[in-house]
Amino acid sequence: MNLSKSKVLVFDLDGTLYEDTHHFDYQAARLKEKLPESKQDLFEKDYRAAKIGEHPLIIGRIFDVVNDLILVQLDNIVKEAYQWNGNPLSQEEIAKLYPSKIELDFEKMLNVGDPWWISMSIAAHYGMEYKVSYQAFLETREYMMSPQFVMEPIPGFKDALKAVHEKRDLVLLTNSPEPDSEAILQKLGLHEIFALKIFNGEKPTKTVDRFEQIKDHFQVSYDEIVSIGDNWINEIRPAKSLGCSTIFIDAYRLGDETFADLVVQRMSEVIPYLKNIN
Ligand SMILES: [Mg+2]
Repeated sequence: MNLSKSKVLVFDLDGTLYEDTHHFDYQAARLKEKLPESKQDLFEKDYRAAKIGEHPLIIGRIFDVVNDLILVQLDNIVKEAYQWNGNPLSQEEIAKLYPSKIELDFEKMLNVGDPWWISMSIAAHYGMEYKVSYQAFLETREYMMSPQFVMEPIPGFKDALKAVHEKRDLVLLTNSPEPDSEAILQKLGLHEIFALKIFNGEKPTKTVDRFEQIKDHFQVSYDEIVSIGDNWINEIRPAKSLGCSTIFIDAYRLGDETFADLVVQRMSEVIPYLKNIN
């Protein structure tokens, strides 16, 4: 992949600009304590199983809260469906339940596109409402803002990105709220390099609108924009469909090389491409 044609680089925040993961256990603990006591051990058991990949709830899938089913989809068409215990549904049952495209949201049809949504989906399975689980998310973000949350920098990344900032426009596009995102950017030393920052981005629902906004803002074409993120459904698939270049941080090895123009497991692998921008 050659980034020399690019004019605007759009970065996701969580799981993209940093690789730390220890806050996911913190979030799981906040969710667990908000469940009725009778459900807490079940939650814990599912969370542990999902963490080691021994659960049908896998990153890259969808959790249908209303039907309590775990789905595999492509472009919003359901291809496979599993009960919580892993039993698959037949194609007839799938056709009956999902005759048309599903609509992803944050309450009923959850995109388990990154680890944030593993514990959130398990909590939803045990009956937690979104407004309660969102509270656990906010408490986690609060923790991440505090000095207790020590972040491990990606070696060489900050300097590489600062050098790119001299030559290209950099955009932050995150689903997270502003105060905690800004605090995290400060911790990473990346708070002054973005020409445009979009918080509460509502990806994937509004990904296409956001990229249109970015295209208009910088007066560029889609093929001059690069989308870089760790959530395939949120920031890679829709950006690719618009004609943007894409870099997928596939930390959990969900896809293959066709999933983006460049597929890497860690951001450190992107650094040589950033250094080649002149
Ligand atoms: Mg992310």
